[in-house]
Amino acid sequence: MKTLTNDLLEELVVECKPYSREGEVVKDIPGQDAVDQNKLGVCIIDMDNQIYSAGDSDMKFTLQSASKIVSLMMALDDFGKEEVFQNVGMEPMGDFYNSISHLEAHDVQKPFNPMVNAGAIAVAAMIKGKDLEEKFERVLKLLRKITHNNSLKLNEEVYESEKLKGDRNRSLAYFMKSTGAIAHDIEESLDLYFRINSIEVTTTDLAKIGVFFANGGRSLKTGEQIISTDHICTIEAIMMTSGMYNEAGKYAVEVGFPVKSGVSGCVIGSVPGRYGVGIIGPAINKKGNSTAGGELLQRISRHLDLNIFSVIRKD
Ligand code: GLU
Repeated sequence: MKTLTNDLLEELVVECKPYSREGEVVKDIPGQDAVDQNKLGVCIIDMDNQIYSAGDSDMKFTLQSASKIVSLMMALDDFGKEEVFQNVGMEPMGDFYNSISHLEAHDVQKPFNPMVNAGAIAVAAMIKGKDLEEKFERVLKLLRKITHNNSLKLNEEVYESEKLKGDRNRSLAYFMKSTGAIAHDIEESLDLYFRINSIEVTTTDLAKIGVFFANGGRSLKTGEQIISTDHICTIEAIMMTSGMYNEAGKYAVEVGFPVKSGVSGCVIGSVPGRYGVGIIGPAINKKGNSTAGGELLQRISRHLDLNIFSVIRKD
């Protein structure tokens, strides 16, 4: 087992960068283009709040699907587990993340899980607030508190593009309205979903979310229990089974701790009781995961012995 240092991370970033050639940068996220193809950055934060980073760790990008764990956290906090999972399931899917066919084919009254688009839209529809502005402000406020970053904000350009190109998500939402799976105002729920996807972050922000999870929902800085540990355990279990689209099984085996990716090429990882991990590698594969970032995640887990199942083997 190796020791976590900036030099080790730098070495691993150099080793993994070539894997970015196996992926492609998503074309319809404004601000991300071919010049980002070879970028790769990582930040890891330990339980003493020590920050390690390497590569393009300061790059700015939007949360995209990684925000699905934030919406779930808010819905669990607002309604509790029982009520949330009456509206969304907790089973892995096996179809593409923005699949519509699964909703009809399985005659589902609720989407499979909160990590696929249909599920995340249903979860966003549950977030409390008197209007759209207040709902989004609540999400931002929670994220700012968790990351200690008061400058976190919406990337307006990405948000406008999400709205403009969001017909697939609109189809999912209106289909769910037709089956009664969503009873809330559809346009408002979609708008909130688009906004949450478009929050701009760096790998440090992601690592801070990860370490907050690793600390069971308690702030490392102030000791405040912001979200109940039970809810964090629920979210981490769902990240493990569904967080990496249709590669969740591979990541459970090769990485062995909860992770959630987004199509901007980002990944949030949480090693319970040990580390928060934030990665950006904008070139993604056909399944939606960063190619270089995924490789880096696997190497980090191996070198630092982070697979949570390996604890059992050591005794
Ligand atoms: N904005 C994308 C969508 O809603 C996010 C998808 C993702 O990151 O998986 O389709």
